[in-house]
Amino acid sequence: MNKSSQISGFYKLNPKERVALVKDFAGLSEEECDLLQNTGSLSLEAANRMIENVVGAFSLPLGVAVNFLINNRDYIIPMAIEEPSVVAAASYAAKMVREGGGFHTSSTPPIMIGQIQVVDIADPDRAKKRVFQAKQEILKKANAQDPVLVSYGGGAKDLDARVINTTTGPMLITELHVDCRDAMGANAVNTMAEAVAPIVERVTGGHVYLRIISNLATKRLAKAWCTVPKENVGGEEVVNGIVNATAFAAADPYRAATHNKGAMNGIIALILATGNDHRAIEAGAHAYAAMRGQYTSLSTWEKTENGDLKGTIELPMAVGLIGGAVRTHPIAKIALKILGVKTANEFAEVIAAVGLAQNLAALRALAHEGIQRGHMSLHARNIAIAAGAQGKLADLVAERMVRERKIRIDRAKELIKELSS
Ligand code: NAD
Repeated sequence: MNKSSQISGFYKLNPKERVALVKDFAGLSEEECDLLQNTGSLSLEAANRMIENVVGAFSLPLGVAVNFLINNRDYIIPMAIEEPSVVAAASYAAKMVREGGGFHTSSTPPIMIGQIQVVDIADPDRAKKRVFQAKQEILKKANAQDPVLVSYGGGAKDLDARVINTTTGPMLITELHVDCRDAMGANAVNTMAEAVAPIVERVTGGHVYLRIISNLATKRLAKAWCTVPKENVGGEEVVNGIVNATAFAAADPYRAATHNKGAMNGIIALILATGNDHRAIEAGAHAYAAMRGQYTSLSTWEKTENGDLKGTIELPMAVGLIGGAVRTHPIAKIALKILGVKTANEFAEVIAAVGLAQNLAALRALAHEGIQRGHMSLHARNIAIAAGAQGKLADLVAERMVRERKIRIDRAKELIKELSS
């Protein structure tokens, strides 16, 4: 008989009691239950305070990418990721970029947009004027919600209102522009949007439904650029290949998705390592890539007059040094210490540089030797481990599979037998 997943009061149990129930439901062994609760550096108690219904913690490898020179300052980049080759590729690209003077960056102030959706308005254009007339009252109410943010020089600075036509009729979207300083700002902005909604309802005579931050943070952009001498990237042929790859991504969404995924490999690994919200960054990046009506590349690579390679990336970057899990996850705190950034703006710029490095590494491999060679040795090791090999044996099995170009679990099992006999 199927066991039911309807478990009333599950949230009220402690992690141990929850594990006992999940053990019964899924047929977990004692050993598996122990592994679940053996949470390492993030204690079970801390995990239990972070999210709901906790039964354990999930570990990812944490690596550091080296060689990063950004605005003439050296950085070591912490990266949490399960995918082989990403950390090595970032370090390799950063080394190439270093030869050309490193990365340069810029960013806009940390302004987030909070949306308040008003429906059922008789005259949306008149309602819009009324919102602008009430601007000072709305901003004052918003700022009263977060004196701490205001004391750091942040807070609601401006507002906008626009009428949009939708399938359920016209709507007035009022937007708060909130300077979030060193916070990502979602909680801060959502609190403000909820607090000002009654004023917006009063002045527009409409009905407010949604009051929430937008992850398309077009007012909080980070940009990075670099020039790589052609000899460091592998010569003229590779430069041409990378320039052509950019043109491909710019014109074709199927390619652009993978082009951008390459950049996000580095960006998300760093975001995860620091306890930031990677869904917010992914959502913002891809929405930004589609801003002009067609999904396209977040970066561009062009040939300079003397044949070198110049790359640029720009994307929304809503990240914080405080708030969320940033200060509650012990490893996130250490990761930020390793990174050594002092403001959310500096952090956002470093992330953009890491994205550009990762993008360069992927494009160089594609334009040069193909992506698989670099990928395969670590992938093969993972397959060897999955097949049951450990330690030195895993290396031997992986090496053989790469040499034979047969990286498959069945082959790994055969090799384990052969090499251990
Ligand atoms: P937060 O509320 O934990 O911390 C921000 C607060 O810290 C500020 O409001 C301010 O009062 C205070 N603060 C102290 N020193 C500051 C400084 N130097 N600069 C700025 N503020 C300072 O977190 P948050 O950043 O408002 O929200 C982030 C969290 O919201 C994340 O966990 C995210 O996952 C979550 N979230 C995201 C979304 C979304 O992206 N759509 C929606 C809801 C919640």
